[in-house]
Amino acid sequence: MPDPVRSRKSVPWLWVTALVVLAGLSVFAAVRFQTWHRQAEDRRLLTLTNPWNPVSETGYTYRSTDTGEGVQADRSCADALRRMLQDCRAAGCKPQVTAGYRSVDDQLVLYDEAVQQRVDTGRSPEEAETAVSAIIAQPGRSEHELGLAFDIVDTDFPLTDDRQAETPTGRWLSQNAWKYGFIQRYPKGADEITGYSWHPWHYRYVGEGPAGNIFSLGITLEEYLSLFYTEEAQVVYEKP
Ligand SMILES: [Zn+2]
Repeated sequence: MPDPVRSRKSVPWLWVTALVVLAGLSVFAAVRFQTWHRQAEDRRLLTLTNPWNPVSETGYTYRSTDTGEGVQADRSCADALRRMLQDCRAAGCKPQVTAGYRSVDDQLVLYDEAVQQRVDTGRSPEEAETAVSAIIAQPGRSEHELGLAFDIVDTDFPLTDDRQAETPTGRWLSQNAWKYGFIQRYPKGADEITGYSWHPWHYRYVGEGPAGNIFSLGITLEEYLSLFYTEEAQVVYEKP
């Protein structure tokens, strides 16, 4: 015959053990999920689009928010953009954001208008398209469609040309943007790798860690992905 007193006492211990094991498993699962979620978010910020990698093949989903700077952006980078511009202004510069998120339709209009302008001034449609595609992304292949890229100019020199690099805003951004998670996405002399000529006004959010590495190594996003993310990148860099 079992001892009735002993049996009654052993039941709570079983429950306690089961609850401790369950609690442990829950904490383990929560930590794993958080880690997975953070890694997925980090990779999302490194989404690559260029002339050879259309946005539609990246699996990227845009999450809209207002930046307070007259443009929309992906939620992941709006705070970083605001902090960067605040500090840029505190340093005495006058930054102005002229472009943020663009839908594929907005990009189509922009691209077609630029081609048409050149056709109107006497170039053939082929020549016009070649000239435009070196400076403006084709619809479906623009970083602005990710909501992670911004065109930032100096209010005193609001033109998107090479001289933007010499403005107080251009100089400040080129030295400090990485601290906020941004990179100058199309650096000088990297046309063959990025697909675009030098754009000293175009900044792309990639997160603080990658931005620091890309800045200190003096490389492009394509090279960074090839070096560190070849296996994991959603879209592996392909040479043209
Ligand atoms: Zn741009």
